[in-house]
Amino acid sequence: MGEQYILGLDIGGTAVKAGMVNPRGEINHFQSIPTNGQQGPDHVLSTIIDLVRAFQEREILAGIGIAIAGAVDSKTGVCKYSPNLNWKNVPIGQIIRESTGLETKLINDANAACLGEYFFGAGRNFSSILCLTIGTGIGSGIILDNKLFVGNSGLAPEAGHMAVLKGGPRCSCGRKGCWETLASASAIIKRAAERINAGTNTVLNDLKDSLSLEDVLKAWQQGDNLAVEVITEAKEYLAMGIANLVNLFNPQCVVLGGGLIDLNSEFCAGLEDMVKELVFPSFQDTVLIKKAQLGNKAGLAGGAGLFWNNIETLGDR
Ligand SMILES: [Zn+2]
Repeated sequence: MGEQYILGLDIGGTAVKAGMVNPRGEINHFQSIPTNGQQGPDHVLSTIIDLVRAFQEREILAGIGIAIAGAVDSKTGVCKYSPNLNWKNVPIGQIIRESTGLETKLINDANAACLGEYFFGAGRNFSSILCLTIGTGIGSGIILDNKLFVGNSGLAPEAGHMAVLKGGPRCSCGRKGCWETLASASAIIKRAAERINAGTNTVLNDLKDSLSLEDVLKAWQQGDNLAVEVITEAKEYLAMGIANLVNLFNPQCVVLGGGLIDLNSEFCAGLEDMVKELVFPSFQDTVLIKKAQLGNKAGLAGGAGLFWNNIETLGDR
């Protein structure tokens, strides 16, 4: 028999990503298919089961590590609530186990991405890391003393929903001024569009109906005033939030990933110094920011890595 593989699955609101992961965290046969979550849990689950069976025909699998966007009970394998998928109390672990005969492990996607980087990526040589995924929102995961911090409810952390601006933009969670409304990729697009609509002169004017993050980043690098203003503001808020988290947890390393970081290597330039300026003075010398190494595969790698790494959790009664 060849190498042992775990199938890693990362079930998000727009895509289901899958790949076979070996004990060194190498990922083979990666693929990404649309989730089609609007068609309901049964449809999504049958698509996933078909996907798993196709992988089973290819290779003998030792288990399935599932990362999912939402609140999960890892002990029972139930997805308790997923706003992105519109799921409530779906026993996904059990359903997939019964359909495929494979052991399953279930974990929230932001914590899975954190574990992926901690097991196999930028965080692998540290015992305490903070992992932030800057995309549509801001996903967060925290490892303290080699344990995954999940808080009293088992659902922490939700760093993207720290309030950083009183009366700020409305967040998907219903509150105002959450960190992700000011420092995420979608915050950048939204704030750029608002300024274009307010009549600011910019090279982005013609793109205003289909503005993408790539457009704003490109205009930023060309020195477009509006793009510079919007990106600078997002970066300042990003630094502020990271500094708050460093003040709380003082991790050995902050790992940054997600679309905003992956798309533009220069976005992070100077960010570490900005954070140092903002943290409690005693922590200034300890601030270390690293770019994530696993890209959009961190979640599936982290879910699969649970099979080889017996990670304890902090919190979760
Ligand atoms: Zn929020």
